[in-house]
Amino acid sequence: MTTAATFRWSEGTATVTKPVLEVQELRKVYGEGEATVHALAGVSLTVDRGDYVAIMGSSGSGKSTLMNILGCLDIPSTGRYLLDGVDVSRLSDKQLALVRNRLIGFIFQSFNLIPRTTALANVELPLAYAGVKSAERRKRALASLDMVGLADRAGHEPNQLSGGQQQRVAVARALVTEPALLLADEPTGNLDSRSTEDVLKIFADLNAQGRTIVLITHEAEVGARAKRLIRLFDGRVRSDERNKR
Ligand code: ADP
Ligand code: MG
Repeated sequence: MTTAATFRWSEGTATVTKPVLEVQELRKVYGEGEATVHALAGVSLTVDRGDYVAIMGSSGSGKSTLMNILGCLDIPSTGRYLLDGVDVSRLSDKQLALVRNRLIGFIFQSFNLIPRTTALANVELPLAYAGVKSAERRKRALASLDMVGLADRAGHEPNQLSGGQQQRVAVARALVTEPALLLADEPTGNLDSRSTEDVLKIFADLNAQGRTIVLITHEAEVGARAKRLIRLFDGRVRSDERNKR
């Protein structure tokens, strides 16, 4: 049986050649009999380190299902998922939680910051879960806030920040653990065009620094800013193309 202790984590600069994620023939079936839904009907894709991928598709095409599996929030019915070289297709809930904390930085449409809690404390939180000591947490959280241009807002609480600023805090929080993958679900869905631009600029900068980003979006303008665009249709990859620069 696989246990957390047997995972081979990649430590920082160790190996750079293996894909960040690799899924093979992923299927997710909901319900049974006449009510059976094939939310994912055989999805295979590989994302290399440093890529920036947008996933698009109409409602019901399987985006959320795929995102939940890529984010280790759910497991596939069948198929394989290697995340940073670790086979996560068949882990227990507890093991998945560990993988999430260690390997993935999440960014949600609704920011999901903790209210009445400073930006700094929000960004420190994943480090606290990971058992990092207070002084080190603070230092790393400040560096992360600095990366999104909000070092001077560290003491502000979410309701004292604009939507765009809140999402930048959420990006800082996603970054702070140095995850292998930044996973964003409609990250600009609640933002006006100016804040959308701010967040996309940060994604572009982070990607230029070598961060791997996978995001889901409904917005063609957002999809166009990624390096690669994957379109889902009926639980399958309909197209997978490099965006022209
Ligand atoms: P999208 O995010 O692209 O709108 P989803 O991944 O949410 O698509 O859904 C894909 C298909 O799977 C849809 O037909 C949806 O109704 C179905 N589905 C999603 N989640 C469930 C669930 N928990 N139970 C039953 N069917 C589901
Ligand atoms: Mg969805």
